[in-house]
Parts: sequence; structure tokens; C-alpha cells
Amino acid sequence: MSRLRPDRPSFVYVLCFDEPRCVTDGDVGGPVLHYVGVTRQDRPVNRAVKNHKARMLDLVYLAPGDERAEDDLKLNGRCPRCAGSLWYYLGDSSPSGRLQRDRASATPRQS
Ligand SMILES: [Zn+2]
Repeated sequence: MSRLRPDRPSFVYVLCFDEPRCVTDGDVGGPVLHYVGVTRQDRPVNRAVKNHKARMLDLVYLAPGDERAEDDLKLNGRCPRCAGSLWYYLGDSSPSGRLQRDRASATPRQS
């Protein structure tokens, strides 16, 4: 788990790019159209934009939320701008496999 500062409010943000790009983040397997992140920095907009070399207009969503909200957005969310899926991982070979497994164990299927 990442050690974010629990004493600060956290924000979840969504970036939507015009064309796929490589985001400066180790958990992404390749160029992506969307990026979902969480930050506890004082200026969440700065973190969201500058950290990923994005433009202000790439930032399409910013709201209070924690890592759980971030994961939920990645798994279930739609981009507020283009309505595209916010799931941008390639498959189980990436750390997303962990996310998928977590989700599978958290929401047992009804039969
Ligand atoms: Zn989008």
C-alpha cells in the first residue's frame, strides 16, 4: 500500500487525453487515453496536471475521494468528457491483476 498522508483530505481525479500517451506512473502498462489518480497534496490540481505532463483541459474530473473511490472509478467509471471506460490496464500481467482479484474477492457472484 502506498503511504499517503491520512491527515489530509484526498482527491480523486481523471485525466482524458486527446490521444493515447504514456503517463509517468509505474502502474500503467503503456499509452493510455485516461488516467485515474488520487492525491493528498495541498493543491490537487497541480498534482493531477503537472505530475502527468497533462494540460488543464485534460483534467475532466476532480472530487473528494480516497483510494477506494479511485479503484471504483477505474473499474466502473466512465469519462465525463468522452464517456469512455476508465479501465486502462492491459491485463493480469500488470499490477491491475491485483485490482481485479481484489474486486473478485470483494464482490462474490450471485448464482
Ligand atoms: Zn475521456
